[in-house]
Amino acid sequence: MTGPQVRDYIRTIPDFPREGVMFRDVTTLFADPRGFGLTIDQLVNPYAGHRIDKVVGLEARGFILGGAVAHRLSAGFVPVRKQGKLPGAVIREAYKLEYGEAVMEIHDDALRAGEQVLIVDDLLATGGTAGAGITLCRRLGTQVVGCAFVIDLPDLGGRARIEAMDMQVHTLCA
Ligand code: IMP
Repeated sequence: MTGPQVRDYIRTIPDFPREGVMFRDVTTLFADPRGFGLTIDQLVNPYAGHRIDKVVGLEARGFILGGAVAHRLSAGFVPVRKQGKLPGAVIREAYKLEYGEAVMEIHDDALRAGEQVLIVDDLLATGGTAGAGITLCRRLGTQVVGCAFVIDLPDLGGRARIEAMDMQVHTLCA
């Protein structure tokens, strides 16, 4: 008996935030003590014993996961946020959306050159958000050791896009 796996705690909500989108809702995964614990265990697994100085979480669900992962890896936590949310001096990176553009930001003093960084988010779709996160971390002179996600939506090409940035991708389920 292995019990429920990570994917079993995630529900799919049709037509959110707009018609035709099948939204993967991880609030049910986070709310379950076993589900959340399993998720953090599996996200941390490949990096245990490696030097990770900072975990970088992508807004917003990457904050919830990233904080717990950082604690487990004895690392600090740094947020990458949507434009206009961080109070200090930032660097920013724009990326294309289906319609228009999005901008992610990081405090320009949040990471030091030479630090080893792990990027964490809940879901990899087109890879635009994670790609911007990687670029921001690299611009600050860090070495991004990997990117870890709970869910991979392989049809949207995110994994290929992130691997093309010479980056290891770790995902728990599709
Ligand atoms: P990407 O930039 O296209 O890879 O989209 C990934 C970002 O969008 C992540 O920050 C996710 O949190 C968010 N996202 C996209 N689709 C979903 C979904 O179905 N459930 C939860 N988050 C999603």
